[in-house]
Amino acid sequence: MIVILKPDASEEKRSRLIGWLKEQGVEVHISQGAYQTVLGLIGDASHIDRDLVAGLDIVDSVKTVTEPFKCCSRRSHPDDTVVEVGGVKIGGGHFCMIAGPCSVESEEQIVAVARSVKASGAQLLRGGAFKPRTSPYDFQGLKADGLALLKMAGRETGLPIVSEVMAASDLPLFEDVDVIQIGARNMQNFDLLREVGKLRKPVLLKRGMASTAKELLMSAEYIMAGGNEQVILCERGIRTFDDCTRNTLDLAVVPVLHELTHLPVIVDPSHATGAAKLVRPMALAAAACGADGLMIEVHNDPLHALCDGAQALRPEEYDKLAGEVRRVRQVTAK
Ligand code: PEP
Ligand code: MN
Repeated sequence: MIVILKPDASEEKRSRLIGWLKEQGVEVHISQGAYQTVLGLIGDASHIDRDLVAGLDIVDSVKTVTEPFKCCSRRSHPDDTVVEVGGVKIGGGHFCMIAGPCSVESEEQIVAVARSVKASGAQLLRGGAFKPRTSPYDFQGLKADGLALLKMAGRETGLPIVSEVMAASDLPLFEDVDVIQIGARNMQNFDLLREVGKLRKPVLLKRGMASTAKELLMSAEYIMAGGNEQVILCERGIRTFDDCTRNTLDLAVVPVLHELTHLPVIVDPSHATGAAKLVRPMALAAAACGADGLMIEVHNDPLHALCDGAQALRPEEYDKLAGEVRRVRQVTAK
């Protein structure tokens, strides 16, 4: 942390501040310029309240030079993290296609979708069993039965499975789920993050719809601070003033996150746009801008889907898109 003092800061207040900073356990390096004094704090200053210091009348501004996210910071871990799920790799040049319905609805539905996306080259099967719905009157998911059907479809196709957990108390049901998804609405459910931090299995962490990239990283930090280093970040669109798409896909965050963190970053163009016709262009753009994978909703009968039918691709549409994504990757992958 660097503290820049106002030119008229009195000697008395200045030494009082320096004394207080030292009491916080940091060394203070003083650079006396012609007009301003700059205090460089040496040592771990992460516990010092930056806003409190910035609010002092002798302080002009405060700058933080180290990020508050340590485990997921690229500075502390320059090489890309590669998350492995049942032989599938994500990150560090390994691109992963995750596909499946928004919700598991029946055995026929999940098995049919699992078979078709597998044939199209998907490596992981998604399917919600606990659904975070805006309305309590909407379909809430098949819960434990849905997870059982998803596991069955995973076993039949050999695809590892991804499903969202909404409450820590449900985690025992997720023992055979290969990747635990934390949905956008739970990105800052810190108790839940701490619980999945105790697991030793991959967590797919979706960006909250009104969260900054740094807040997403702080949430990843909660998981990693518990010792679980297998975190995959997911951009799924954020809430903006524009309502022409369900959310606004923030693709620039992909290279921004790659700079800030070593964790893999995937994109979900389905929830980002809310419209099947927009999934293809955004998926291709995500592949081109360096995403480490795509999570796409696919349904065998979107018109009768119990959730998110409007954004679901039909199996044949997904198949075509998967081929196009591979071609984009061939020309853009480093
Ligand atoms: C989902 O992936 O099923 C989902 C609910 O997404 P999000 O949390 O991004 O809204
Ligand atoms: Mn959905």
